Amino acid sequence: MTTTPRPTTTPGPTPTGTAPAVPATADRILTGDRPTGPLHLGHYFGTLRNRVRLQNEGVDLFLVIPDYQVLTDRDVAERLSEHVEGLVLDYLAAGVDPARATVFTHSSVPALNQLLLPFLSLVSVAELGRNPTVKDEIAHSRQAAVSGLMYTYPAHQAADILFCKATLVPVGRDQEPHLELTRTIARRFNERYGPVFPEPRTLLSEAPLLLGTDGTKMSKSRANSIALKASPDETARLIRGAKTDATRLISYEPELRPEVSNLVLLAALCQGRDPHEVAAGIGDGGASALKAAVTEAVNTHLAPLRARRAAYAQDLGYVRQLIREGNARANAVAEATLDEVREAMGTFR
Ligand code: ATP
Ligand code: MG
Repeated sequence: MTTTPRPTTTPGPTPTGTAPAVPATADRILTGDRPTGPLHLGHYFGTLRNRVRLQNEGVDLFLVIPDYQVLTDRDVAERLSEHVEGLVLDYLAAGVDPARATVFTHSSVPALNQLLLPFLSLVSVAELGRNPTVKDEIAHSRQAAVSGLMYTYPAHQAADILFCKATLVPVGRDQEPHLELTRTIARRFNERYGPVFPEPRTLLSEAPLLLGTDGTKMSKSRANSIALKASPDETARLIRGAKTDATRLISYEPELRPEVSNLVLLAALCQGRDPHEVAAGIGDGGASALKAAVTEAVNTHLAPLRARRAAYAQDLGYVRQLIREGNARANAVAEATLDEVREAMGTFR
């Protein structure tokens, strides 16, 4: 956890497959999930599988649980500890190895949060205001008024990424504007004060935007998700209620038939098959045959993960200890980076 990658000034092409653009072990990964509920299939196929794969290839993995970020779209962060522990259970069940990965809550890392102040000075209000993901989240927000945190959390996210000098960030498509801002902040900081931060690359998976049962982005907070930990019956019920269309012949045409294609893709991802082949196999069986096939594929694929999660859930003391250890490691890294930032900025030391 002590190796710090050298800063690079070239963001490089945005990798869009599952393979990173440079040798994996040269990278440090930072990514994470808001503690707003259990992880779902969008997380799993959108980023979690990539994290575990790269970890297993020897890449240094940092997972942030951005607890302050819960407050972007609601007044109170409810059941916070429960959600934090639930995320860690999902990570462990998916194959995150605590011996190799650092899992931390960003509210426990003061030096990380302090980076937000110089970072905010590097972006304009107009730049913060035109972020399309922030606009979409405002549209779905539970709050009548939009808070300052909603507009500034992408800069906070830059602090989450840059405090550990991450070079690769496996995320879903909604995060692309935030990664662009992170690169901008790193570049401007380096230009103004000298080279401190790498410009991290985005890593998208083959499912960068999985849709929920209502046909919009699957999200923890939108009551449209299928949780990894859901029971087989609950999974079947949720998939039965998924939006489809009236055409009986099943096809894989994401532009023309987003909801049906999303279900086809889900089955294909679970089975490691080509989505066109999955669609052809269902043929004119209609939405009910498609949903039955997807349910079977999801439940089969997730059965081992669900069993592991249930086993880890027996020992929440272990989970809490992992978070404490991750927080200690993250604090050491953040202190070292903040020292470099103070040195570069010439603040009183
Ligand atoms: P919330 O509704 O609370 O914002 P969320 O489901 O959007 O929850 P986040 O914690 O905001 O989840 O996102 C965590 C990571 O998972 C991010 O990298 C995000 O891009 C990715 N992700 C979230 N939803 C999807 C999805 N439907 N498809 C692909 N990736 C996703
Ligand atoms: Mg989200």
